[in-house]
Amino acid sequence: MTRIRWFGTNWKMNKSPQTAREWTTAVGTYMAEMPADQRLFVMPPYPLLPQILQDTKGTGLIVGAQNCHWVTSGAFTGEVSPQLLKEIGAHNVLLGHAERRKQFGETDEMIGRKASAALRVGLGVVLCIGEDASIKDDPATTRSFLEKQLSIALGDIPALAPEQLVVAYEPVWAIGVGADPPAVYEVAEQLRVIRHVVDQIVNEHVPIVYGGSVTLENGPSLLTETVADGLFIGRHALDPAMFIRIIQTALGERSVVE
Ligand code: PEP
Repeated sequence: MTRIRWFGTNWKMNKSPQTAREWTTAVGTYMAEMPADQRLFVMPPYPLLPQILQDTKGTGLIVGAQNCHWVTSGAFTGEVSPQLLKEIGAHNVLLGHAERRKQFGETDEMIGRKASAALRVGLGVVLCIGEDASIKDDPATTRSFLEKQLSIALGDIPALAPEQLVVAYEPVWAIGVGADPPAVYEVAEQLRVIRHVVDQIVNEHVPIVYGGSVTLENGPSLLTETVADGLFIGRHALDPAMFIRIIQTALGERSVVE
């Protein structure tokens, strides 16, 4: 069976309509020649979703939101429902990102409700989990922490359609400006644990991607020397040329030095 490789990016609170269009044009050109065993996804800020969905129609790019609520409608100022995302044509939604957990107080229980609601309306979900620096060097604690995040977030999900759920392992200590790009040995065991736990909870095959300071240099080993099915790339994917280069280099189609 062909192994599908997943590459995604979350733009966070970055980009304008203009720079978004430059990105989707460049990535669309790459996707026109892309092998069928690759999946690319992007999570722009909410207001850019309609433009990007329109501009990338027919390319296969999976376009999703960075968050959603768990109810369909109501008095929740500033929130967006999974139903509305589905109705405007979004394909998936990112849930449980470390920044949402830390800066906006999202708990595993809230993320579980969101995951359940999003999957039930037919959206895909990219579920982020990951430990922080305080437990990073304690394998047993990290293991039970990841197991708990997964079992709560996935505790009430419906039967999944193929490729409807992706789990992103994003160790908090490895994310963002100032973080050290991880070495493979620092994340390989956690990825194996996640693979094992997810296989126990979910019947469908769920791809697992690694995210956190993925670069041109560490992308190939993170992809080929771990059980990860793909890479979730943050700041280094804001430049579309670099996003494509990281993908091609990780797949062994280009070399790191050119
Ligand atoms: C992230 O914050 O989810 C992320 C992957 O960011 P970066 O690649 O910039 O560390």
